[in-house]
Amino acid sequence: MDFEVIVLGSGAAVPSLTRNTSAQYVFCHNRHILIDCGEGTQLQLRKFKIKFQQIQTILISHLHGDHIFGLPGLLSTMQLLGRTKGITVYGPKGIRKFIYACLEEVGKGIYFSLNIVELEPNTSGVIFEDKCIEIVHFPLKHGVPAHGYVIKEKPHKRRLLRDKFDETGVSVSYIQKLIQGEDIVDMSGKKVRSDDVTIPGKKQKKYAYCCDTAYSTDIISFVENADVIYHDATFLSTEEDRAAETFHSTAKQAASIAYKAKIGRLLLGHFSARYTSTKEHELEAKEIFEKVTAVEDGDKFVI
Ligand SMILES: [Zn+2]
Ligand SMILES: [Zn+2]
Repeated sequence: MDFEVIVLGSGAAVPSLTRNTSAQYVFCHNRHILIDCGEGTQLQLRKFKIKFQQIQTILISHLHGDHIFGLPGLLSTMQLLGRTKGITVYGPKGIRKFIYACLEEVGKGIYFSLNIVELEPNTSGVIFEDKCIEIVHFPLKHGVPAHGYVIKEKPHKRRLLRDKFDETGVSVSYIQKLIQGEDIVDMSGKKVRSDDVTIPGKKQKKYAYCCDTAYSTDIISFVENADVIYHDATFLSTEEDRAAETFHSTAKQAASIAYKAKIGRLLLGHFSARYTSTKEHELEAKEIFEKVTAVEDGDKFVI
């Protein structure tokens, strides 16, 4: 598969026997990406058989312990196991100080290239792109500066309808232009429209990570039409006031975002440890949005 997500931690605030704190592994067209790194993430990576030395990019949502306490340990283990490949960490302002404070106090230098990119609060934009994928960050509504991330494929090329193309009789040297959507006129003056001999390429896949966040319709423009979105669903609606006070969301609010943003599938996560089951989260979300899954650690989703 070219694009998949594995949930490494779906619990809020504190690790429990059934849920680790926040982390996800995303594989997208040969990029290996870790989103958030709660305490114990390196064990979850081992448990779910992910080769963590492959990770090239780490996206940190915000500086709450349940999203970052695993990061110094993971970087330290990478170092101890002889890593030479560089890694880039994106996160809010302060992430550099946090990493170095932890590692320097215990006398651990990092000898591989560690590129740390601090994101300005309340900003958005492309932070990474290559020929296959693009990563965008955007602001979430939380008690501290927090960033959501969208990982999406670049547009796929149009596909040639070979029979239709052959019927035109023009040289194969025009194929590239036609695939790029250009109409052409050949040496003899024959015109061929791209639309007549090609069809649109595969739809671009898009995944969005929105955690931690209070209910905020401001995120819709960034996540709209995503195939899959992971959204904070710390509480049930009975705790809506508590969700607002702590800048978290209810399952129903997550569903409302999914509905308004016309997304394909909603993943609910970051569950408060007060809930022993997440059936209710799914049920209340389904009142608004049908395609919903309350995730468990280890769940894998193909985007
Ligand atoms: Zn959290
Ligand atoms: Zn938080």
